Amino acid sequence: MNIIQVYKRFPTQNDCLNHLERIRWKNKPHCPYCNSPSATPMPKENRYHCNSCNTSYSVTVGTIFHKTKLDLQKWFLAISIILNAKKGISARQLARDIEVNKNTAWYMQMRVRNALIDQMDLFEGIIEADETYIGGKNKSKHNNKKTKGGQGRNSKDKTPVFGILERDGKIRAIKVKDVSSRTLKSFISENIKKGSQIMTDDWKSYKGLNGKYQHLVVAHCKGEYVNGIVHTNTIEGFWSLLKRGILGQYHHVTKQYLNKYIDEFCYRYNNRNVMDLFEQTLKRALRGVGSD
Ligand SMILES: [Zn+2]
Repeated sequence: MNIIQVYKRFPTQNDCLNHLERIRWKNKPHCPYCNSPSATPMPKENRYHCNSCNTSYSVTVGTIFHKTKLDLQKWFLAISIILNAKKGISARQLARDIEVNKNTAWYMQMRVRNALIDQMDLFEGIIEADETYIGGKNKSKHNNKKTKGGQGRNSKDKTPVFGILERDGKIRAIKVKDVSSRTLKSFISENIKKGSQIMTDDWKSYKGLNGKYQHLVVAHCKGEYVNGIVHTNTIEGFWSLLKRGILGQYHHVTKQYLNKYIDEFCYRYNNRNVMDLFEQTLKRALRGVGSD
């Protein structure tokens, strides 16, 4: 759903609440504290009184919408805008779009990102694996491959990120502490099914994948980038989208939050063909606890 559709379908706070109640409870309220279905509506406050434990609650308890004074419509619009923003969206822009202040927009983005996490099976088939570096002052060192072998690798202001991508499928990427063989291989064996084909460049940390996997290498150091089906171009395309997003929209992303930005980009990539992504994301938003 685009923002016009969201705006039309959920014109009021009540429309949003009713929709969340349908998703979370199938319209039969359950106390989030004691799970009792015995509830008395408090229609004025849009809440329920629990007849078992005597607390009161609304459908947003324990979700990303918990304890917010903002209209749910703004949350719904924010989710729709974020899902549709292929290159990401800055807090400043989101603030203008939904008429909240910049700090509020930033806080909403952080909360929404808690719902943008994919639960995935092991990757299999043809997989591209690659590492990259995010951040750093020297923007001209854009081509991370240049820094990979030596000088720039230990640069304090760059953060290594590792990812695996199933061709025509899904991606998983995370901030890593280093790009050592141990770090990359443990991620690979936790996330990729034995026997899969793994395509990488010739970074030395990938040596020794053969055996458990079929390891195919493009020799970037020799200027080779594609060898038949062997290449890492798809994941490199994803890196450039992520980096442009972070440079253009988020300016400096602190290391602390980097995984959340990566999750957001992975989520859009992984769900690019999902028709009812807005609905799916609302479901996740209701499941997710409201922690930051
Ligand atoms: Zn209760």
